[in-house]
Amino acid sequence: MGYAGLMFGILAVISVIGLIARIVGGAGQIATAAKEIKTSKDSAEIRCAELERQKKLDEAEAERQRKLDEEQAEIRRKRAEADERIRERQERHRLELEAERAKDEAVSVNTECKMCGAALSGHRRERVRCPYCDFEQTL
Ligand SMILES: [Zn+2]
Repeated sequence: MGYAGLMFGILAVISVIGLIARIVGGAGQIATAAKEIKTSKDSAEIRCAELERQKKLDEAEAERQRKLDEEQAEIRRKRAEADERIRERQERHRLELEAERAKDEAVSVNTECKMCGAALSGHRRERVRCPYCDFEQTL
């Protein structure tokens, strides 16, 4: 083998080493890229799980709020009913009192003062003051 052959051989070895280095480097880059892909896939999965969890929490919160609203609506409805019953009872009572007063006013009473015996007149259950002795009584 001559000088040129030796040089050629050296060059060939250097080329092969370079090629191997590039292959190894490429493999390293591929491995790094694969690792990056896996990392981003993992973080995407984590984000996905986080979103899923958040969605469930939001749904539970919405459900809780809906129940609360329903309960409050029920309470308002019951209170309105109770108010209505009270109003009806008060109105009935007022009408009864009016009817009773009308009945009393229709009945005239002639009597005597319990204190001095003077003649007194008015309607039933009326409070009157005797004009002579100032004694107050119910007819
Ligand atoms: Zn009197």
